[in-house]
Amino acid sequence: MTTGKSTATPSERLAEASAVCLIHYHEVGLKGRNRSHFEKILLKNLALRLASLNLAALNRGEERAASEVQRISGRLLVRFASLEEAFAAAPELADIPGVVRVSIGYRLRQDLGLVNARALELVARHEPFDSFKVAARRANTDFNINSMELNCLIGEALSNALPDKKVQMTNPDVCLHVEMIQGAAYVYADTQKGIGGLPLGSAGNVVCLLSTGIDSPVAAWRLMKRGAEVIGLHFSGRPETSGSSEYLVQRIAERLEPYGGLKKLVIVPFGSFQRQIAELVPPALRVIFYRRLMFATAELVAKRERAKALVTGESLGQVASQTLDNIRATDAVCTLPVFRPLIGSDKLEIIEQAQKIKTFVFSTETQEDCCTLFMPRNPETHARLAEVESIWAGLPVERWLAEIADGLEQGWESGD
Ligand code: ATP
Ligand code: MG
Repeated sequence: MTTGKSTATPSERLAEASAVCLIHYHEVGLKGRNRSHFEKILLKNLALRLASLNLAALNRGEERAASEVQRISGRLLVRFASLEEAFAAAPELADIPGVVRVSIGYRLRQDLGLVNARALELVARHEPFDSFKVAARRANTDFNINSMELNCLIGEALSNALPDKKVQMTNPDVCLHVEMIQGAAYVYADTQKGIGGLPLGSAGNVVCLLSTGIDSPVAAWRLMKRGAEVIGLHFSGRPETSGSSEYLVQRIAERLEPYGGLKKLVIVPFGSFQRQIAELVPPALRVIFYRRLMFATAELVAKRERAKALVTGESLGQVASQTLDNIRATDAVCTLPVFRPLIGSDKLEIIEQAQKIKTFVFSTETQEDCCTLFMPRNPETHARLAEVESIWAGLPVERWLAEIADGLEQGWESGD
């Protein structure tokens, strides 16, 4: 029990106030016995992102970046040298898979005087405003004032300091949170919504067929958000076209990198294989055969990378190759599951998400890639699987795949 005095041992004694971001997670917290594993991954991803931020404080002490993030009951805590740094870092932290909310404020000794002073500072940042409320929570009984009393005491102190503001329980302009957890007080009046999902690295590897279009970068991001690590696979029209799509897909990879889930980009010079398919397959079916060879290549890469699924940016009916019959005729070449996270999404929804993750700007630049090569005028929209399989059986697929495997190029790697 304390009466507002610190319970910390001398070695643990807290600074009067340290600026913090409190990281709230949700699904991670629900994972039962896996919880500590998930927390560790999230902790590591937060530390990595912090290390990549150009915060003056992070360059000050050698061990600082590594020791920045720590676990407290049901939350992760990131400390900063100043409140401004915490505010600057919050949008970055909110963008990490697994983060549901980021609250920005102070960690204090459990001393009501300190809490009131910082509460006033944090609330005053919201000027101009008319109303506020206090939401206090005591995680356990190591503090002798209960939540209701805390609400009243802190509310009263704020009202005295801000006589023109009214206390309002529903929809106040500002909500000041006070949490008493494990011997410390946390005070905040600002919270940013995070992207949610699960921490990266918690689900295993997938291979995403990554074009320079709008859809596939969003599809890759969706899988990252669910904890998967992504190997991007891009089919270039080289040597039949220039390698200009490769430049664009690398820019897209760089945009996805801060999420932490893109491991590398593999490039396949695919033009000569398309030319051979175009020579051997009836025009209406060409696209399905290009895509079957792409998927077979993706399986090959998946095997090398220990990936357990393929991902594409397809959306039902968007183009001829994305009808149910054609999807079936393509998927039949694969043994791994093919995930299409955008299958039910409209283009406008996908564009909105591409803008949020900042890949849209590159996806709207048109560059020739293998998609523009040897395209038939009237592609089949309802391919018959039996016909496709029988033509496929007569093609030198094994030789093609061996040549493709030899010609795979590393386009980009995380940390490049
Ligand atoms: P996106 O669908 O990404 O906007 P797109 O519209 O150019 O690109 P589609 O013809 O819709 O491509 O192809 C469907 C899916 O096939 C893409 O979402 C992507 O996963 C894969 N794909 C197409 N072209 C390529 C390519 N050149 N390299 C890698 N994957 C590709
Ligand atoms: Mg598309």
